[in-house]
Amino acid sequence: SARQVNIAIIGAGGVGKCFLSQLESLAARRQNQRLVLTYIATSKKAVYSDSHSPIALDSVVSTLSSSSQAPLALPKLVDYLAASGTKTVLVDNTSSQEIADAYPSFLHRGISIVTPNKKAFSGSYKLWQDIFAAKEEGGALLYHEASCGAGLPVISTIKDLVETGDEVTKIEGVFSGTMSFLFNSFAPTSGSGGGKWSAEVAKAKELGYTEPDPRDDLNGLDVARKLTILARYAGLEVESPTSFPVQSLIPKELESVASGDEFLARLPEFDDQMEQVKAEAQKEGKVVRFVGSIDVASKQVKVGLEKFDLSHPIASLKGSDNIISFYTKRYGSNPLIIQGAGAGGDVTAMGVTSDLLKVLAQL
Ligand code: NAD
Repeated sequence: SARQVNIAIIGAGGVGKCFLSQLESLAARRQNQRLVLTYIATSKKAVYSDSHSPIALDSVVSTLSSSSQAPLALPKLVDYLAASGTKTVLVDNTSSQEIADAYPSFLHRGISIVTPNKKAFSGSYKLWQDIFAAKEEGGALLYHEASCGAGLPVISTIKDLVETGDEVTKIEGVFSGTMSFLFNSFAPTSGSGGGKWSAEVAKAKELGYTEPDPRDDLNGLDVARKLTILARYAGLEVESPTSFPVQSLIPKELESVASGDEFLARLPEFDDQMEQVKAEAQKEGKVVRFVGSIDVASKQVKVGLEKFDLSHPIASLKGSDNIISFYTKRYGSNPLIIQGAGAGGDVTAMGVTSDLLKVLAQL
């Protein structure tokens, strides 16, 4: 029918699987009647047909795992999706830079995109410009709420603030669930109970709060990517996530050790350094936290350790929650604050699914 919308999905990992189950459950609420799945792929396998025939959602995970089809190369995928003659949404549930780099070619052909992948929006400023130009030219839609703060309404909030003419002066927050968990345990506001830094990192890894190699969290790059995205929406032409100061919590000596396990084994040698940081904050009646901030007027973006009064909302965060404070002209000195889980398959997929519903409502 004319109102049919095709959907193509890349990625079926932690977020992708949760997204698929949310997509299936839309049916129960009659929200997906226009949606037809015509392509799904992981890095190794794919399911699709030249006639764009519908792929059954209720058995898609097993269909995919037993498939012998290889994924289409990206230029071929663009052609395949455009050839259907039906409005199409691509859902990118990967963290692939290669796929992100291809967004302009999808958008240019009128294929809308929904994604939790940060790479497209936090890469070079040129890619950012190309993406939004292609979106305009192709008349496509583009939503990436979950690329910053998982299911938390962060991107939609900054867009709403800017588009309605408010002036964002500063954004500040804890943008990493891993960093949140580490510092809430290492330097609790109660003053006691925090273990050695290396022990807290080991514990976070055991509980599944870190990447397989914890250095991928401790280098601050993930936070820098989120800051890059928000700074750009706030109007700053940030060149890349490495074009502003980002404090890495990886000791220089451990940057090049071979494995994450060796890194963890040697981390205790550096506990004194972090203990000192904690003690200095304590002397001022404060706690240390790993934060990102954007000062719009001075165009300053930075990521690293900062000290906060115990009564500050950033100090009293719990568990692995994120917190993002928007200081704007309208909100004055009491910022608009968004807080809650900033990671996890189900909440991240919620960000993706709700974006998909926004696209559907407009197609
Ligand atoms: P994952 O590693 O569990 O899954 C990635 C999936 O993408 C796999 O199915 C893999 O096969 C596929 N893939 C990767 N590269 C591909 C390629 N080039 N072509 C085709 N398929 C490819 O990752 P995840 O945890 O599900 O995260 C997915 C995305 O969501 C990432 O961009 C991540 O940064 C973002 N995100 C995740 C969370 C979270 O809590 N997990 C939170 C916010 C954002």
